[in-house]
Amino acid sequence: MIVSNIDKYFKEMDIDISWYKKSFIPNTQLSSKSLDDIAISVENCVKCELSKTRKRTVFGDGSPNSKIMIIGEAPGKEEDEKGKPFIGRAGKLLDSILKSINLNRDLVYITNTIKCRPPENRNPMNEEIQSCAEFLDKQIKIIKPKVLVLLGKIAANNLLAIDKPMAELRQKKFFIERFDVPILVFYHPAYILRSPLKKSQVWEDLKYLKNIIKEHVS
Ligand code: URA
Repeated sequence: MIVSNIDKYFKEMDIDISWYKKSFIPNTQLSSKSLDDIAISVENCVKCELSKTRKRTVFGDGSPNSKIMIIGEAPGKEEDEKGKPFIGRAGKLLDSILKSINLNRDLVYITNTIKCRPPENRNPMNEEIQSCAEFLDKQIKIIKPKVLVLLGKIAANNLLAIDKPMAELRQKKFFIERFDVPILVFYHPAYILRSPLKKSQVWEDLKYLKNIIKEHVS
């Protein structure tokens, strides 16, 4: 009521106060709006050959207010069909891994290094990763996570700009200049499915991840 009176008052004096009202849009609305804008750019993207073979782009899933952001490799068959990350077998395992440390999907934001499925689930090529890099950077900058978790060597080597095996990436905190957030590397769930012998290492890594979350996410 008061606001509409003020609106009327300024209108009569021919004063534009729309800039003032815009500055009071809650942050969550602003960030989901900008995430939506990037999602639209991704949908329209034809920067690499994957745009010719994809069924759908797979942008991300979860709340823009999440304090924990998880980055996988690339969409697989189910993800390509439904347009949502980590909904196939690897996704189910990721869900149970998260549950074991009391996290569910609503508390994290999940995306991938590249937003379109490579044919036959082959590894993403360098030019495909480079074409998608600006989208991923923008997502991280908008979400501003307190902890960033990279799943597997491809996501890790891309964001950290290094070429190291998983053995040298696990249970370490990395920092890179353009983001003010600790970055951790965790086994990709698809790899865990293929290598059940790594389960004890996964358990160790989970304990490490849980501690980092406790330290950085209040
Ligand atoms: N593997 C990924 O890296 N991302 C998905 O979305 C699904 C499987």
